[in-house]
Amino acid sequence: MKPRGGYQGYVLDVDLSSGRATRREVPDEFAMKYIGGRGYGARITWDSLVPGLDPLGPQNTLTIAPGPLNGLLIPSSGKTSFHCISPATGIYGDSNMGGSFGAEIRLAGLDGLSIRGRADRLSYLWIDDDLVEIRDAGHLAGCGATQTERTLKDDLGGEDVRVATVGPAGENLVVFATINSDWGRNAGRTGMGAVMGSKNLKAIAVRGTNDLPVYDIEALMEVSDRAFEYLRSHTSMDIWQRQGLMTVIDYANTVGFLPTRNFGDAFFEGAEGINGDVMESGYKISDSACLACPMCCGNVCLVKEGRWAGTACEGPEYETAAMFGSNLGVDDFPFILKANQLCDELGIDTISTGNLIGVVIEAYQRGWLSPDDMDGMKPDWGDQDSAVRLMELIARGDGIGKYLARGSRGLLEKWPELARITVQVKGLEQSAYDSRVSLCMALAYGTCDIGAHHTRAWPISKELEMGQEWGLEEKVDLVMYHQAVRPVFDMLGVCRLPWIELSIDENLYAEMYSAVVGIPFTLDDLLKRSKVIYDLTRAISVKLGVRRDQDYPAPRTFKDPVQSGPFEGKTADPEEYEAILNMYYERRGWDRKTGIPRRETLISDGLEDVAADLEALLEGE
Ligand code: SF4
Repeated sequence: MKPRGGYQGYVLDVDLSSGRATRREVPDEFAMKYIGGRGYGARITWDSLVPGLDPLGPQNTLTIAPGPLNGLLIPSSGKTSFHCISPATGIYGDSNMGGSFGAEIRLAGLDGLSIRGRADRLSYLWIDDDLVEIRDAGHLAGCGATQTERTLKDDLGGEDVRVATVGPAGENLVVFATINSDWGRNAGRTGMGAVMGSKNLKAIAVRGTNDLPVYDIEALMEVSDRAFEYLRSHTSMDIWQRQGLMTVIDYANTVGFLPTRNFGDAFFEGAEGINGDVMESGYKISDSACLACPMCCGNVCLVKEGRWAGTACEGPEYETAAMFGSNLGVDDFPFILKANQLCDELGIDTISTGNLIGVVIEAYQRGWLSPDDMDGMKPDWGDQDSAVRLMELIARGDGIGKYLARGSRGLLEKWPELARITVQVKGLEQSAYDSRVSLCMALAYGTCDIGAHHTRAWPISKELEMGQEWGLEEKVDLVMYHQAVRPVFDMLGVCRLPWIELSIDENLYAEMYSAVVGIPFTLDDLLKRSKVIYDLTRAISVKLGVRRDQDYPAPRTFKDPVQSGPFEGKTADPEEYEAILNMYYERRGWDRKTGIPRRETLISDGLEDVAADLEALLEGE
């Protein structure tokens, strides 16, 4: 199949070691098979694997791919995916960022960037249509992420220039360092910022003036108008624009899955101090949005008085408010804004940071860590001073921050006894949804290809609606449907929230893609492509050592009953989990004993080379 629109047809290969940058033509078959975004990133990551690859070494390839719908002024079309082998987990990693950065890459005539090597000094990459330069960034050393973005925009031409940057944490190789853009949009998970830092790459600045190729613009406008109209007239649009994901705090607390005091509880007595209403009435000063998004879920906030007066940031959304609020026992909204702003500027992921601080507070409270271990701190629940100090130590890699900066894996290397209370899968700290109350959510975390993250599947709400007696088969179906449909948005370069939050018909995206490439695609066609990518990312991680024994949620899921709220006394049942995991492997066509994709599964995906490679690997075991 040959696309008649949709693709610029080139990926920019940048080797920072040699200083060479080459526009590589992308074959049509590649574009049609991998679609874009996460599909491109997964395949390029597989092709770049070399034995003994160090995630923080020059051979790790960072692929940035916006997707073929990105930038087209259809609803919420500003999402870009970042991919590499994660320094946090040692396996396949990716993260998705909103804003406008990816659209600018496409306007520069590119479908993606593939960056390897290591510059000999701190540098930034400047792409101005066909011009590509690696420039000295010595003057930006140690600068905060938003400060760096401002400086480069001012130096290079103002608001027409889009900048993605790391903060000090990326330079210091914190394994959950982020890449930031548009003053608060982040590729937050799996340490993309550390990989940029390991390459001595402080920032990427892009300006493009090309057209975006669309095969049938009238058909695209027609479906796009329908999509905009649906969203504009949705009854939940008003609350969504006012509060965005902050509405989830009250919902999670009422239903009973709000992480509280290091996921020890799932109900927080102080939730009313950190919810969307508090934000809206006391702190929100403006909306903000990614490219072409009518939902405007960004909440620009300012603290006008009190201890954290002067703090301003774009945020928070649910995850940040939960991880720095209930998960640390804090019921004070200004602190959440302070933590959000610090994480943005230092360039660290709010989920991993809030999660890890929760672990060390609990460890200290249990007497498993001493004041000496904690650099003299005596952290407690609700203790804002210790949390701020820990964030700064993490970003600098000082004191206990040296271990925390290496994530859960670093923490457990130093203190293996904390395994019982760390809340992570495969080294990635768990997102803000308790998995004791939902077997589906436990399976979603256990089998997510990047670790304990909710972006691949968020089945918890549906499962709770259906009741605890809902059958295992239906639960597996739901997790697998989420794991297929959610990545489709990442492949196309659009946001999944119009579907998740306002129930837009996902078939519309197949219509849009068809209009853009000039070839009819159904949603089912896209889901099949997405399934191929899930098998491919699994194959990458299998090659790096992942097997069935790593497909389990955090120990707390099975061992520590919820302490209060609607699910008081509840844990997940380990036998049920074994049963659902077996069922999941069967449906996926992965070997039950090992969790490795079967040869015939990979062949039917059209991944013959991957099947041969895994076969050779397994013969050697
Ligand atoms: Fe961005 Fe929010 Fe719109 Fe999604 S819903 S595109 S995250 S503003």
